[in-house]
Amino acid sequence: MRIAMIGTGYVGLVSGACFSEFGVSVTCVDKDAGKIARLQQGEIPIYEPRLDQLVSSNAAAGRLSFTTDLKTAVRGADAVFIAVGTPSRRGDGHADLSYVFAAAREIAEALAQGGGERTVIVTKSTVPVGTGRQVERILQGVLPPGRFDIASNPEFLREGSAIEDFMRPDRVVIGTDSEHAKGVLRALYRPLFLLETPIVFTSLETAELIKYAANAFLATKITFINEMADLCEAVGADVQDVAHGIGLDGRIGRKFLHAGPGFGGSCFPKDCQALIRSAALAETPLSIIETVLRANDERKGRMAQRIIAACGGSVAGQTLAVLGLTFKPNTDDMRDSPSLAIVPMLQEAGARIRAFDPEGIAEAKKLMPALDYCGDAYEAMDGADALVLITEWNAFRALDLARVKSLLRRPVVIDLRNIYKPDEMAAAGLTYVSIGRPTGEPPADKPAGLRAIA
Ligand code: NAD
Repeated sequence: MRIAMIGTGYVGLVSGACFSEFGVSVTCVDKDAGKIARLQQGEIPIYEPRLDQLVSSNAAAGRLSFTTDLKTAVRGADAVFIAVGTPSRRGDGHADLSYVFAAAREIAEALAQGGGERTVIVTKSTVPVGTGRQVERILQGVLPPGRFDIASNPEFLREGSAIEDFMRPDRVVIGTDSEHAKGVLRALYRPLFLLETPIVFTSLETAELIKYAANAFLATKITFINEMADLCEAVGADVQDVAHGIGLDGRIGRKFLHAGPGFGGSCFPKDCQALIRSAALAETPLSIIETVLRANDERKGRMAQRIIAACGGSVAGQTLAVLGLTFKPNTDDMRDSPSLAIVPMLQEAGARIRAFDPEGIAEAKKLMPALDYCGDAYEAMDGADALVLITEWNAFRALDLARVKSLLRRPVVIDLRNIYKPDEMAAAGLTYVSIGRPTGEPPADKPAGLRAIA
């Protein structure tokens, strides 16, 4: 089988490389000539674990290639996947579909000049319900019936574990009313059928909505545990034990119950916004998701306040070491990262920031040029007034606590990801502030919240 992947970003490159690993012949297309030139030279433009080996082995085997020439790539392909970006539209927060529609028009024109073969056009980008039908109309305007089929195949991979997620997904969702499209997609995903991965066949509209419903639900779960963390702090409970205690209930599940600084990244914020907009247009408002987004936005400000409070109520003139800038570990993606909200608030409050991130610095420099970027974690904390952990990279999970204490001017650690134990930090002589947990020191009195209840 032969496919073209239009858009060679986090999703398109990983999906294209994984399909080629399945034995499919894949051409990845991007309009960014610089990106394609780097890929052609064997350079991977993003950081994603194991992606370099997967790309180089399949490129060497002749199953994976890269081009800016969409026309040649789509002609003769069994399926063409659209995996371009769908960022938030300025003004109303709805998904900006201009890249999807532009790609659909280019595909239609290329196929119209081709040899008359039948091609399945598959939307992999996250697109609001109804978009697939609009793509269908674009193609209908150029191609005769029988030349193309439309399908939606939303992607659920997570950056940082994208290859594993693509190769061993919880499910594959395919939305289409075409038997031909079903057959082609079934053949493409054949290795997953053999692993007994559930394949959910639905209508186009349902598949589009499944993706948004999944992301909005996960964002809600995170926001729920974050608010529980606030309550835990007020009443002297431990949010990690609460998460454990509820997560063991099979109806709730253990994942996505880690309290932290609020969700970010290239998907949850924009997808929640787009879903709210779709629901408003359909006159069925999603008040839960509206609240989730508001609570999540406000949380970033509260995190900055918490850091300032831990530094004695003011950070004016202080130097703060910040570890972790990307929105999650194992990626270089900075899109909508919590650090982009929290760090500028600390700067505005007068702090100087010394920052380190294992993979995100090149991208972070473009967005936050006025930070002092350091070569490693210890360099960042050398002489700083406090240490702030924002992203839980493995490299930050086992810091030498004695060295941390000796490098910091004051032994204050604010951990927004709960990666250390309060008692071990207290034992190391560090003043430790985390999320939704007792400090490790015996409470002097009943916590404020409990006093209020009493
Ligand atoms: P990205 O910005 O990394 O990549 C998009 C690529 O498409 C860019 O390289 C851009 O140059 C290219 N492009 C745009 N228009 C084009 C055109 N007409 N022809 C050829 N190339 C074109 O985006 P991404 O993170 O890969 O996301 C892509 C889609 O997948 C989005 O809808 C996103 O919501 C969804 N998604 C993303 C993730 C994720 O973790 N990043 C996970 C699941 C779904």
